[in-house]
Amino acid sequence: MELEKVVKMDKKYYMNTFGDRTPVCFDYGKGIKLWDANGQKYFDFLGGIAVNILGHAHPALVRAICKQAEKLIHCSSLYYIKTQAKLAKVLAENSCTNRVFFCNSGAEANEGAIKLARLYYRKKGIDNKYEIITLKKSFHGRTMTTLSATGQEKYQKPLTPLTPGFKHVEINNINELENEISENTCAVMLEPIQGESGVNPLSVEFMKGVRRLCDEKDLLLVLDEIQTGIGRTGKLFGYEHFGIEPDIFTLAKALGGGFPIGAVCAKEEAAAAFEPGDHGSTFGGNPLACAAALSVMETIEKEELLANCTKMGEYFFEKLEGLKDKHSLIGEIRGKGLMIGIELNEERAATVKDKCLKQGYLVGSVGTGIIRMLPPLIVTKKNIDGMIDVLDAALVAC
Ligand SMILES: *Cc1c(COP(=O)(O)O)cnc(C)c1O
Repeated sequence: MELEKVVKMDKKYYMNTFGDRTPVCFDYGKGIKLWDANGQKYFDFLGGIAVNILGHAHPALVRAICKQAEKLIHCSSLYYIKTQAKLAKVLAENSCTNRVFFCNSGAEANEGAIKLARLYYRKKGIDNKYEIITLKKSFHGRTMTTLSATGQEKYQKPLTPLTPGFKHVEINNINELENEISENTCAVMLEPIQGESGVNPLSVEFMKGVRRLCDEKDLLLVLDEIQTGIGRTGKLFGYEHFGIEPDIFTLAKALGGGFPIGAVCAKEEAAAAFEPGDHGSTFGGNPLACAAALSVMETIEKEELLANCTKMGEYFFEKLEGLKDKHSLIGEIRGKGLMIGIELNEERAATVKDKCLKQGYLVGSVGTGIIRMLPPLIVTKKNIDGMIDVLDAALVAC
């Protein structure tokens, strides 16, 4: 009953940006589980699209948010903020970068990184370096500039003219990328594993090649870690799998464990291009958002969730490969840690997703042929066994 009411209201008053949504309205969650208003239970293998990294209602995160909300929710970055300074320190100390700027979302973090990359050369008196090379099938956000950075025509076409200064090249093709570098190029911006377009990992050779080209040609390497960051791949940041370091990287999604916060992280030299007045954000890094993110970082460490992510990721991939031997519908299985894409050999992603939903398992789909899973890092073998059984049955029935 409740669902019907919500759907009716939504259809009348909400902008139709999501079309017919999955017909479920969740009431509450605990760990990997969610319940709807009818008491129906679901296992969340999508994690709010890589956001609910600690699962739902993690006691430490809930406590941190409640405690901070009682003291101070917002006060403006015109003043010094304790949780903001502490979170900046934690991110700097645990990454290859030295300084951080906080905002509220992924797109905003990438906007910040793009501004920083351009300003870095402007401040050196180099006015003609402003172009950024990104990849085809990339996803960097929905603001005008980040969708100009996004290498997907479907998002760009209806909204031209775009922000100038972006070029898109094929993934894992270092020669094409090198050919596109000109005297106007200031940066290369990449996701270590492309998320939104179906879990496409960059090769180690490609990433190393990009780093080498950036060094040789004096370009900044910007990594969009919005989906790969905060433990998703078994390391705190995706770049750690590639044996390279970016000059700038961005975070959002999992950083607040569900509370909105984004970050631009940069090495000292690049970070210095932001001077007073160059950038800002009203809500960015407010006491509450930073308290939430601090609790996420602490919990990942305390509960050894990176190790669990690696272990569960390996177990999950092994089980999926087992299913592949059984079902010819399964093609390539891609990803790292708990960022998983399952390519189907036919356009059955929506059917598989719906069958899983009927059994109380939430998974994502990309296009018509890829199933995507981004479970919380607290996932257990038992949870994975359950998901595998449901997927097995769904594939039989397809
Ligand atoms: C989700 C995502 C974004 C956009 O983040 P928003 O918070 O939706 O603005 C950007 N880049 C990547 C890699 C993402 O996965």
